[in-house]
Amino acid sequence: PAEATPEWLAHLNTPQREAVVTTEGPVLMLAGAGTGKTAALTHRLAHIVRERLAWPSEILCVTFTNKAAREMRERVGTLTGGALEGMPWLGTFHSICAKMLRRHAEIVGLQSNFTIIDTDDQLRLLKQMIREHEIDEKRWPPRQLAGLLDSWKNRGLNPPDLTAVDNEAYANGKGQEMYRLYQERLKTLNACDFGDLLLHILNIFRQNSDVLKSYQQRFKYILVDEYQDTNAVQYLWLRLLAQERKNICVVGDDDQSIYSWRGAEVANILRFEKDFPGAKVVKLEQNYRSTPQILSAASGLIEANSQRLGKTLWTQLPEGQKVKVIGVWDAPEEARRVGEEIERLEREGASLEQVAILVRAQYQTREFEDRFIQIGLSYRIIGGFRFYERAEIRDALAYLRVIAQPADDLAFERIYNQPKRGLGAKTLEKMHQHARAQGLPLAAAALQLADSDELPARARNTIGGLMADFLRWREMSEAVSPSELMRAVLEESAYDALLKAERSAESAGRADNLVELARAMEEYETLGDFLEHVSLVMENDAASDEEKVTIMTMHAAKGLEFDNVFLPGWEEGVFPSQRSLDEGGLASLEEERRLAYVAITRARRRCTIMHAANRRIYGQWTSSIPSRFIEELPEEHIEQETTMTGGKSLWQANWSESEDPFAHVSRDRPDRSSARGPGWQRALATGYDTKQTRLKEPSRSAASFAAKPRGDVELG
Ligand code: ATP
Ligand code: MG
Repeated sequence: PAEATPEWLAHLNTPQREAVVTTEGPVLMLAGAGTGKTAALTHRLAHIVRERLAWPSEILCVTFTNKAAREMRERVGTLTGGALEGMPWLGTFHSICAKMLRRHAEIVGLQSNFTIIDTDDQLRLLKQMIREHEIDEKRWPPRQLAGLLDSWKNRGLNPPDLTAVDNEAYANGKGQEMYRLYQERLKTLNACDFGDLLLHILNIFRQNSDVLKSYQQRFKYILVDEYQDTNAVQYLWLRLLAQERKNICVVGDDDQSIYSWRGAEVANILRFEKDFPGAKVVKLEQNYRSTPQILSAASGLIEANSQRLGKTLWTQLPEGQKVKVIGVWDAPEEARRVGEEIERLEREGASLEQVAILVRAQYQTREFEDRFIQIGLSYRIIGGFRFYERAEIRDALAYLRVIAQPADDLAFERIYNQPKRGLGAKTLEKMHQHARAQGLPLAAAALQLADSDELPARARNTIGGLMADFLRWREMSEAVSPSELMRAVLEESAYDALLKAERSAESAGRADNLVELARAMEEYETLGDFLEHVSLVMENDAASDEEKVTIMTMHAAKGLEFDNVFLPGWEEGVFPSQRSLDEGGLASLEEERRLAYVAITRARRRCTIMHAANRRIYGQWTSSIPSRFIEELPEEHIEQETTMTGGKSLWQANWSESEDPFAHVSRDRPDRSSARGPGWQRALATGYDTKQTRLKEPSRSAASFAAKPRGDVELG
C-alpha cells in the first residue's frame, strides 16, 4: 500500500485492515472463531471516528450483549485517544430500539414514557385474558402463549400477518385473536414487551416514510457483530435502515449460530450478498486466540456438520497442549477433579479470572458451586442466578424450612400461595393479624384459622389442606431421606405438575433445577444437615474484587475468551441435550455441534472436556454414554484420560449382556467394589480399558437409544 498505515491500524492483518478501511459500501466479514472479527469491527468504528467520516452520533453499532457494547465503547475510546463524546447508538438491538421507540411512541399509540413489562407481568396479563376467554389454562398455559407471541414478534409478524398454522397453534385457532387483544391491552396500559421494541419500530418504519428516511440519513455507517444470530425482525430492521447509504458492515460466523431456538436465522448471513449486491466479502483465516491443538480440535469437530460454508483456519501461535478429555466416575468426581485442576493452575500462576467452566444447562452449575464452596474457591455465575438463589429452588427450600422449622414465617409466607392456591393478600393479612394477636408463628396461626370461621370457607379449606400436608410431610421427614421428602413435597404440593404444564423451554429448565436439587440432597442424611449446608452456601457471597472463576452457559460465553476452559458433562442426553435428541432432526443436532464449537473456541491455551460414566437421574443411577462430540474430535489433537481403573461404567459393562439397555438401572450407587450382574463381574475381571472411553463400536447405536428411555430426564 502506498499510503502509510495509520498507527491505530498497525497491528491488524491485511484482510482485517481491508475490512476497516473499506468504509463505503456493504461489507460482509465472514470468518471463524477467534479470527479478530470483533477486533476489526471495533477498529472500523475507531477509524470512522478518527478520520472524521462521521460523528459518533451518526454511527449505528449493534452488539449481542450490553457487556460487549460497554467493552467496545471503552476500546474505541482508547483507540481514538479518548476523543469519543458518547456513542448514543451503540448497544444491543433492544437497547437501541427502546431509545428509538421513546422518540416515536405516539405513532404506534403509546406515550414516550411507556413501560417495558417483564415476563412476570406479561404472564399475569395473559392469564387474565385466558380466563376471560374461558380457555382451559391447563391445556393452553400462559407461558405457551407468551412463547408463541415472542416467536411471532421475532418473525416480524403483526396479528393480521399470522398464517392459519400460526393461528391454530394456540387454543384451536384462537392465536390471532389473543395476539390482537394482547396488543390492545398493552396499549391501554401504555406498555410494551421486549418483542415489541423491535416490532413497533419496524412498523413505524413501514408506515412512516419520513421517520425511516430521517434514520436512513442519520446513520452514515452501520456495524453489526454476531450477525449470524439475528432473527427475522432484526434483519428486516437493518435492511430498511441500510437501504439508503448501504454502508453496512456485518460480521459473523455461520458455524457459531446457536440461537435458532430464539428465532435467529443463519440464512440472514448467507443472503447478505443478495440483499446488498456488490458487497465486499472479507474472509479472515488467521486465528489469534487458540493454540493449534485447540483450533484443530474445534475445526475437526465442526466438519461433521453438513450445513455450513466451510472455512480454513490457521494460527501462528506456539504449540500448546492437546485438548484433554477426562472420563470420571460420576458428577461429584467431575466437580472434584475440576477443582483440583484449577488449584493446580493457580499454583502455576494462572489467574482465576482466566478460568471458565462452561455448561450446557443451568442445573449443571450446582455440583461445581457446592464443591468450590467446600474448597474455598471463589466463583461467579454469569447470565443467571447462583443455583440456590433461583426462584424455584428458593420455593422448594421454603417448603423444607417450614417442615423443619414451623416458626419460619418468611419461608411460610413465600409458599403459602406458591403454587397458586387462590389465597390472596386478604388471607395473608388475616393470618398475620391472628399470629400477632395470639403471639404465634404464621403457620400455627394458619392452622387455627383453618378451624375458625374468620375466613371464607374456600380459603379455610385450602389452608386446612395445606396444613395437613405439612403435618404429613413433617412426619415423613423423620422416616425418609431428605431427597425422598423433597420429591414427595414437589409432587404433592402440585409444584412439579404446574411447572410441567407450562411447557416452555424456561419451565423445563426450572424443572431440571428441581431434579438437581433432589439429587444434591441425596448426599445428606437429615433435612437439618442439608439446610445447614444451604445456609453456608448462601452466606458465601464474598462480594469483593478478588479473582474469581467464571461459571456460565456455553450460550452466554459467545464472543468471550479465557486462557483455561473446562467443559463438563459431555454425555449423550446432557450434551447434546436430551431435548435436541428427542426433537431429532439434523438441524437441532447440528446446532448442538455448533455450540460445542463455540465452547471449545473460547479457550486460548487449555481446554479440558469431561464426561462422567454414571449419573443419577431421579434417584437412580444410570450409566452415561460419552457425547458423540467426543468421538468426533480428531484423535491426534486430544489426549484421553480416565480415572476409572477398576471397572467400566454400568453402560459399558452391560452393553453386550442385555437386550434392554436399561436393565442395568439400579437404585444403588455403583462403586468399583460392588459391581452387579455378570456384566459387572466381567468388567471387574477385565479391568477398565482406556480405549473404551471412545466407544468406537457401539456409540452410534447407543446414541440412538439414549434419546428415548431417558426422556424423563428433561421435562416439557
Ligand atoms: P469470536 O468468533 O469468538 O467472536 P472474533 O473473530 O470476534 O471471535 P476477536 O475476539 O476479535 O475474534 O479476537 C480474538 C483474539 O485475537 C483477541 O484476543 C484479539 O485481541 C486478538 N486479535 C485480533 N486481531 C489480532 C491481530 N491482528 N493481531 C493480534 N491479535 C489479534
Ligand atoms: Mg467476536
